[in-house]
Amino acid sequence: MEELDFDVIVVGGGPAGSSAARMAAENDCTVVLIEKENEIAETVRTSGVTWISDIEKIGIPDEYYNPIKKFSFRSPKNSVKISGDIAKAAVLDVRKTYKFLAQRAQNTGVKIFLGTNVTDVLRDSTGKCIGVIAKSQDNQIQFNGKVIIDASGFASVVAKELGYVKQWKKFGVGAEFEVKTEKLEYDNWWLMVGQEYSPAGYAWIFPTSKNTARIGVGIGKPDSNIDPTIRLNELIEEKRGPIKDLGKIEKIEFHYGLIPNEGLSRKTVYDNLILVGDSAGQANPLVLEGIRYAIRFGEVAGKVVSNAIKNGNTSKAALSPYEKEWKKAIESKINSAVKVQNRWVGLTDEEWDRELDIINELTVDEFLDFIRADFGVSKMVKLATHHPKMIVRQLFNMVKGA
Ligand SMILES: Cc1cc2nc3c(=O)[nH]c(=O)nc-3n(C[C@H](O)[C@H](O)[C@H](O)COP(=O)(O)OP(=O)(O)OC[C@H]3O[C@@H](n4cnc5c(N)ncnc54)[C@H](O)[C@@H]3O)c2cc1C
Repeated sequence: MEELDFDVIVVGGGPAGSSAARMAAENDCTVVLIEKENEIAETVRTSGVTWISDIEKIGIPDEYYNPIKKFSFRSPKNSVKISGDIAKAAVLDVRKTYKFLAQRAQNTGVKIFLGTNVTDVLRDSTGKCIGVIAKSQDNQIQFNGKVIIDASGFASVVAKELGYVKQWKKFGVGAEFEVKTEKLEYDNWWLMVGQEYSPAGYAWIFPTSKNTARIGVGIGKPDSNIDPTIRLNELIEEKRGPIKDLGKIEKIEFHYGLIPNEGLSRKTVYDNLILVGDSAGQANPLVLEGIRYAIRFGEVAGKVVSNAIKNGNTSKAALSPYEKEWKKAIESKINSAVKVQNRWVGLTDEEWDRELDIINELTVDEFLDFIRADFGVSKMVKLATHHPKMIVRQLFNMVKGA
């Protein structure tokens, strides 16, 4: 078996893995990024919605996304549209963006192995991980490393193989078609809620260009046993809700994916090992949106790992600044979002119709803070001063889980 040595082994070439690898390489580590698919983002498993302020910080070029200014919600008997003057949300070209992130990592010296599936973990005599074994075509390769970054997404292959984590029990399943449409308000997205769309989740229309969009259905497991692919096909065939306004629809590509939805249930740091992105469960649970966190905390992981390697100590304690930093940034937001999500999952159609009346009270920035789960104290206070008493109480109650 071929044997290769690196300081850092990153498993998974998604946004978390590429960002972690780049940051570790920029900080003088030798880094390998191992991806099982034959190309970065060969299969698309995400809708790619994110926020322009984050994209600009990350440096993703503006030709890689379709900007969104208007945010529409549909429940069985209600409909709201919140419009802004400038675009704040974006629907990414997922393939281009993920390839861009991987290319940027490669430019800093990261060695990328595509079509290479990590199947096993190497341990030392005390059980700590010291490498992985991967299969590439008919070859097996042994990668030895000082630190492993598990960025393998939902699968969490390394942490699972080591017995540190088990398969997620609560997760979202999403099915989506990229489609060509006859008509499209291409700066307006739709979220569709209520039983007919998704019994535990939501359906969506996210425009990707002037005449293309992603239409999808997300379903929470184990809350509902509905198959999102079947529901999606029904919605498109029956042209339910705002789908009928798209005119003739031509399916271009099918996307399918799983995303953890357990709040912050996992430890993300072990001796010689860090979990990042979906592997760590780092997504905003309100709308199961994780790309910006995968990139941001991937960078934090790469930095902390390279510091630990420089200091010659890659123990759990030496890697713990990573967990401290990401938890400080999002722990309270995620906990609040879980409460709102728990409330949303239990709503009847009539309650959804009323919920949209509350959402309709929000300005575009308040709505976006809400959907982004940006529930800082100062933002909540601003909400309190801006809105009539009853509405505010309901908003506070949502966030506090009352
Ligand atoms: C249906 C759906 C819609 C979503 N929509 C949005 C959205 O609109 N906006 C948003 O921000 N987030 C969205 N998300 C969530 C978002 O996709 C994830 O949070 C994000 O992709 C996490 O990035 P990651 O790098 O951690 O994992 P991933 O993107 O899953 O990357 C993991 C990589 O690891 C590789 N891998 C897995 N196992 C192995 C192995 N054994 N060996 C080698 N490589 C391996 C995989 O092939 C993959 O390339 C959605 C998720 C789903 C399921």
